[in-house]
Amino acid sequence: MGCVFVILDGLGDRAYECLGGKTPLQAARTPWLDRLASIAGNGMMHATANGQALTSENAHFALFGYDARAFPGRGYLEAIGAGIPLDTQDVAILARLVYASCQGGLLTLERNWPKADTAEIAKLIGSISPFECEGVNIEYIKTSGTSGVLVMRGPVSRFITDSNPLTEGSRLIEPQPWEIEKGNPASVLGARVLGKYLRWCYQRLENHPVNTARQQQGEIPLNMLVTNRAGQYAKIDPFEVKWGLKALSISSGLIYHGLCRFVGFDVLPVADSSSPGDDLAGRLETALSSHGKYDFIHVHTKAPDVAAHTKNPLEKKRVIEELDRGIGQAFNLLTANRDHLIVITADHSTPSSEPLIHSGEPVPFMAFGRGVRQDNVCRFNEVDCAGGALGFIRGEDLMYFVLNGLDRIKLSGLMDTPCGQPYWPGKRQNFNINIDP
Ligand SMILES: [Zn+2]
Repeated sequence: MGCVFVILDGLGDRAYECLGGKTPLQAARTPWLDRLASIAGNGMMHATANGQALTSENAHFALFGYDARAFPGRGYLEAIGAGIPLDTQDVAILARLVYASCQGGLLTLERNWPKADTAEIAKLIGSISPFECEGVNIEYIKTSGTSGVLVMRGPVSRFITDSNPLTEGSRLIEPQPWEIEKGNPASVLGARVLGKYLRWCYQRLENHPVNTARQQQGEIPLNMLVTNRAGQYAKIDPFEVKWGLKALSISSGLIYHGLCRFVGFDVLPVADSSSPGDDLAGRLETALSSHGKYDFIHVHTKAPDVAAHTKNPLEKKRVIEELDRGIGQAFNLLTANRDHLIVITADHSTPSSEPLIHSGEPVPFMAFGRGVRQDNVCRFNEVDCAGGALGFIRGEDLMYFVLNGLDRIKLSGLMDTPCGQPYWPGKRQNFNINIDP
């Protein structure tokens, strides 16, 4: 028995007038998801606290059963997802070339995702990397397009605030040490050096010949580097030790590769085509044919979240219908073996209308397999699932739900090993009458 854990990223949403007061998922025609819901137990789920808006990485980290205090920061995870070699002391920060306007020394983020060709980006990056100041070395490593990772090497820590406000029209933010880390010289130095570096970047980029040429052609300059989500190695218990499950992730996107590698999954990187439905079907088929090798398989599609970020509920509805078609392609495989536990849910809600990036509503959740209580829900969406038999599931409960569904949950409180792991059997030490303790 194994669990296929399907994340339709950012699936949850809000109700919109243009959809007759429904969410995109409610409004979408989803015959295959609905058929699955009718043989499943259904409910609602939030990865942390109901109402809290989550990033994908924080939501996934919670769903995989980890405490937020152990989270290493997205910059670190994207770096290892991209295969950037890091020492445990290195700080990795997400960084992006943007267009910012300047008035009285204050910068305003005008365009967070400006377009530029590869040669232009390479020349601009070449002018701002490497950098050295106060014994700290900074290197900017491109990952894709205008995005990359800033690696800081030296006596610094990751507890540095973001300079990217994320929302266009907002002022850029001064990097500062976290309040609780103000007594830590590594945080103070890291923030100060990053601030100096970003000022230097502005001077270099604002006057760069590439930007001069772009402006002469009526294009916006890429005149500033902005940073957010600093990260650094952290020690955690690997997933297989923590939950007793050997895990695989089938996903696209550096953050999922990095996060899943960090927690100890094997990772099968896949590419996104122009057909998210076909992509999802292929990932499900791979997952269902990988059982036996793995106990827990994370199948991920970013498509609903990407569609929601277009801020067009109709586009999200269209993409959901496309994903449903992919579920339909894999339907027979999904339902062929009732010994598998199949979970379909989302990591968070992504509203397909302004102004929030992600929002705090819970997401629909379904699970089916041998023994899972079935209910009367026959539509998979944010409203019908709320009337399901599984009730409300919190992220911290999820791995217990999975272990229980796989008949791997230990009677709580029994100590068959010194660490008191939640699954059975633990890594027990056999009693041997020939050994004197
Ligand atoms: Zn997400």
